[in-house]
Amino acid sequence: MPVNLQKAEFVLSAVSPKTFIQDGRPQVAFAGRSNVGKSSVINRLLNRKNFARVGAAPGKTVHVNYFNIDGAFYLVDLPGYGYAKVSKAERDRWGRLMEGYFAQDRDIALVLSLVDSRHPPSREDLQMLDFLIDQELPFLVVLTKVDKLSPRERRERLAAFRQELPMGEELAILPFSAQTGEGREELRAILDQLENDLLGEEEGE
Ligand code: GDP
Repeated sequence: MPVNLQKAEFVLSAVSPKTFIQDGRPQVAFAGRSNVGKSSVINRLLNRKNFARVGAAPGKTVHVNYFNIDGAFYLVDLPGYGYAKVSKAERDRWGRLMEGYFAQDRDIALVLSLVDSRHPPSREDLQMLDFLIDQELPFLVVLTKVDKLSPRERRERLAAFRQELPMGEELAILPFSAQTGEGREELRAILDQLENDLLGEEEGE
């Protein structure tokens, strides 16, 4: 049965790894630099206006937010990285949260690694992807804000990403626009597939 994305509930905003959720339910995590459009992707996916907060003050969002989706999985909004003006203490806290999150026993079913489609990946985007590859975590690159590209820019950037991203030729890359809804159906299908695979595993046990 397809996952009902309308049935989304905010569960918890964790400020320290002590309160991270690890209850066996699969987790789909969203990662990306501040302002990449993460909240907008989540809101568009869930068809909610202000579920994840758009344009939240940078540096004020160092939490890990959990949403329960249809009782089937957690959608996890990881804190954005790469905001230059935050204090060292905040950056350290960010590091502890991210390390803590990825050090968990693996309930992580998929990581959506968000990258702004308009620019070459930042150093931190590349670090994130290297980390995911190194840890052998399943991930998908979501290119955000594609509506801001002209058709020609779009072709050029998509081709460039294949060169710029680690393992670029082999990566699953999904162009997305929170504005037009492009990519939403594909993302939804991916989540349905994930849920089916996981159910299949349970039944096969
Ligand atoms: P976050 O910090 O990663 O959660 O990013 P937000 O979702 O708050 O988005 C940052 C800014 O980019 C906001 O002004 C959004 O309105 C804008 N934005 C996000 N996604 C899109 C998109 O797909 N298209 C356009 N045109 N703007 C977007």
